[in-house]
Amino acid sequence: MTRAELTSMFEEFGEPKYRATQVFTALHGRRIRDLENITDLPKKLRAKLIDTTDVSRLTVETKYESIDGTRRYLMKTHDGRPVEAVFIPSEKRDTICFSSQSGCPLKCDFCLTAKLGLLRNLTAGEIIEQIVTVLNDVYGESNETPHGTNLVGMGAGEPFLNFDELIKALGIMSDEDGLFIVPDRVTISTAGIVPRIYDLANVETRPHLAISLSAPNDELRDKLMPINRKWNIHELMTAAKEFEANLRRGERFTFEYVMLGGVNDRDEDARDLAKLLSKYQLTRAKINLIPHNGAEQLNYTASTPDAVKRFKSRLESLGLDAYVRQPRGRDIYAACGQLAAMDVEKAVGRR
Ligand code: SF4
Repeated sequence: MTRAELTSMFEEFGEPKYRATQVFTALHGRRIRDLENITDLPKKLRAKLIDTTDVSRLTVETKYESIDGTRRYLMKTHDGRPVEAVFIPSEKRDTICFSSQSGCPLKCDFCLTAKLGLLRNLTAGEIIEQIVTVLNDVYGESNETPHGTNLVGMGAGEPFLNFDELIKALGIMSDEDGLFIVPDRVTISTAGIVPRIYDLANVETRPHLAISLSAPNDELRDKLMPINRKWNIHELMTAAKEFEANLRRGERFTFEYVMLGGVNDRDEDARDLAKLLSKYQLTRAKINLIPHNGAEQLNYTASTPDAVKRFKSRLESLGLDAYVRQPRGRDIYAACGQLAAMDVEKAVGRR
């Protein structure tokens, strides 16, 4: 619930408005999950809230911890749908990768999540609850986040197919009495839902944008990311251009490029990618190269470290800014494109 929604609920209860602030601060700022523990509320009111409302709607089924410190949380909604979030620690700033849908309806050929299909959209509450669950597991119920937190909407699902709940969740999380994760600390990744790119450009306090491109031409992108048959590269680039025109001072946006061995990592692919960005004069775009996180269930292998290096240098020589995203949590199926509610023990054949 937004603060406004909480306020009307307390009004209906015949309670003063400040109760909404007390509860909002307790649930989001102090991350208290048991209403009984909000001791600044009168006992009678706590009992009423316990009877009539629900706080946590996600339960953690399994938690996996990688050798690199990454943690993957496999949670379930109240109606049994899988939800996954990933905690990626870093000395500078921790990152939490959250999901916007249970499963995903898009059929990106290189992604394990696609195998689940769409189970359902998550509510704003279920989006926020992933972040609170992770923070409470790592730091306990308090307002502590010692390293600060970046959020990336790159978990399961296509965030732009759940746009309204996503924007609502981000609004609630940015509140300074709550989690206080401002949009500037959030990046949302889309596979290319073009109309929502235009919509996002007009959201006043919006997160950063990443567009998953992964191919320099329609022929290959049609195959790798079937959403391209609905909105092709020209439509995507036109939307990206419009988004670029609305960027804040110093802000950039990202194209993500999953690197698949022998498929899209050749020299001519780098050249075509550079040509594409130059054709649309996308001067504030950077490119994140993501070596594919191979899995037996997919017919792709990751580009070799040499191929990634070559591709990056080629892009740089053509005037582009390219970065390589180091995979985290591959061993626990927590890396990009691997969130498929996977039981690790089963996946590696120990069960
Ligand atoms: S890459 Fe993203 S959009 Fe594509 S199928 Fe996987 S989760 Fe869905």
